[in-house]
Amino acid sequence: MLNNQITIVYGENPREMVETLLAQLKPETALRPGATIGLKPNLVLDKPAASGATTHPEIVEGVIRYFQAKGYSDLIIMESSWVGAQTEAAFQVCGYRDLAKQYGVKLLDLKKDRTIKKKVEGEEIAVCTAPLEVDFLINLPVLKAHCQTLLTCALKNLKGCIPDHEKRRFHRLGLHRPIAQLAAVLPVDLTIVDAICGDLTFEEGGNPVPMGQLLAGTDPVLLDSYAASLLGLAAAEVPYLDLAVNLGVGSTCLASAVVVEVNPEAKKAGRFRLTGRAKTLARYAEERDACSACYGSLIHALHRMAEDGELAGLKDGNKKIKIGQGFRGEQGGGIGIGTCTRGLNNTLTGCPPTAREIRTFLQQVLAD
Ligand code: SF4
Repeated sequence: MLNNQITIVYGENPREMVETLLAQLKPETALRPGATIGLKPNLVLDKPAASGATTHPEIVEGVIRYFQAKGYSDLIIMESSWVGAQTEAAFQVCGYRDLAKQYGVKLLDLKKDRTIKKKVEGEEIAVCTAPLEVDFLINLPVLKAHCQTLLTCALKNLKGCIPDHEKRRFHRLGLHRPIAQLAAVLPVDLTIVDAICGDLTFEEGGNPVPMGQLLAGTDPVLLDSYAASLLGLAAAEVPYLDLAVNLGVGSTCLASAVVVEVNPEAKKAGRFRLTGRAKTLARYAEERDACSACYGSLIHALHRMAEDGELAGLKDGNKKIKIGQGFRGEQGGGIGIGTCTRGLNNTLTGCPPTAREIRTFLQQVLAD
């Protein structure tokens, strides 16, 4: 797998999706027999994945099944929930205790792990030893927004690999620089992003937005840059990404990324049960059989625009944004998002376009 490759799998069944993804990537080709494999999900607190806060256990299940079928039996699920939450409770509520029992894999609460000091830029960071000692570390973050850093995905998920006192220090330092530094001293071999239904606004869930996809790659900075675009953000709006580039962790250059869609035919019209903020934003859209990857991008774009006061031109109700396969072949006026609406007068093509592309397009439309 090329370091500048971003691989995407669409679908509705997380376990099947990740098995399809791994069959494409073949990560075992870089592994010796008997290698120890660490799996680092995001279990920030004890809330189920449907809330938008935590990694779907079915994704981790798919990874376990894949590697066990290849003969790898030394797998460890490892995590430390945020300060104030109990990792053991998250293991239980999020389904990881049952998963570990069913497949005979180890479950490690990193709050109880030993730590080691790693030096970077003349400073020391305390890091849990288990993620450093495995032969192959797979990071399994959730794609979601964050109230302080705007984005939480690959790099920020590594904060679950440090002790609580270090997490507090990271917050005192404003998060960005220490997040980049941590990524520089804790190498990850493969990142698989859970973009099934990450949260619109906060790290702790409550406003899940269906996106129906998994993203994978070996450059966590590039993946985060792409993930940012799915939330309507430029990489430059997330300062820890450029800081990580300066430390040699990866690249933010999406122009040189190779995006591979493994199963584009799996983009299917979804049935959406939006709640809270996402439901409010959906009032700006006229949706007919939209795929979740497309519709989710629109919701994220609308959220960003609402935060910046850019939706005033849509408030008269005459400019509902059309999206979905139900608009295929339709001609005439109106604003359309996605290639399915290309018969309309004013359309952004792409299948699906990113939230960043949608935001830029709508800004132009509303300025005219
Ligand atoms: S453009 Fe149409 S087919 Fe493509 S993702 Fe959007 S709704 Fe689905």
